[in-house]
Amino acid sequence: MKNIENNIKNLKKKIQKILKINFSYSKIIKIIAASKNQSTEKIQTAISYGIYEFGENYVKEGVEKIKKLKKYKNIIWHFIGKLQSKKTKLVAQHFDWCQTIDREKIAFLLNKNRKNTQLRMNVLMQINISQETNKNGVDIKNYKSLAQFINQMPNLNFRGIMAMPKKHRTKYYDYENIKNIFYTLKDKYDSVDTLSLGTSFDLKESIINESNMIRIGKKIFNN
Ligand SMILES: *Cc1c(COP(=O)(O)O)cnc(C)c1O
Repeated sequence: MKNIENNIKNLKKKIQKILKINFSYSKIIKIIAASKNQSTEKIQTAISYGIYEFGENYVKEGVEKIKKLKKYKNIIWHFIGKLQSKKTKLVAQHFDWCQTIDREKIAFLLNKNRKNTQLRMNVLMQINISQETNKNGVDIKNYKSLAQFINQMPNLNFRGIMAMPKKHRTKYYDYENIKNIFYTLKDKYDSVDTLSLGTSFDLKESIINESNMIRIGKKIFNN
């Protein structure tokens, strides 16, 4: 598990370096460890080195881990996978955040299944920034109406957007585009403060394009 310790140290160093070169002020970047397929032992190791937010892609696997790790009271769980409507209830009951709302039905069901005794669920709308038919997320032309819908849900707290820019292409275009959408939504909705962009492969491009939440799998858990 030594590699997890070193990976986390290196990741934090790298983020600090990117911030130092590109910004004159200090900005906080939230690290979400993408822990799909990782054991609870590995997650516990990451916790012991200061990671306390985790992102899971599969509902059943995620809920099992959340239950197993209940004793860690301050862990924040994000759902970051493709969400089917029949699984929304489990996500609403067990996760703190859902980053992958791509249509009204999902927002409606998460809202419906979030209990009044729970805190509001933090949610992001996933935008299909590269406009690929096989990628997840709401189409760019529909993002404004979906935002409006999410914002009306009393048990959801609309925090911003999530996107996965395409790997091979003129990257610049996608990042500029998503940054502008983020600013547009921030202007309109007081609760919007989160741009979840960036994985192990595009840390720098995301951070210089205003991402303040990154989802890192391989660069935390791999050897
Ligand atoms: C797996 C995953 C990540 C992390 O990707 P890595 O390349 O392992 O850093 C980020 N976001 C989502 C939605 C993922 O499924």
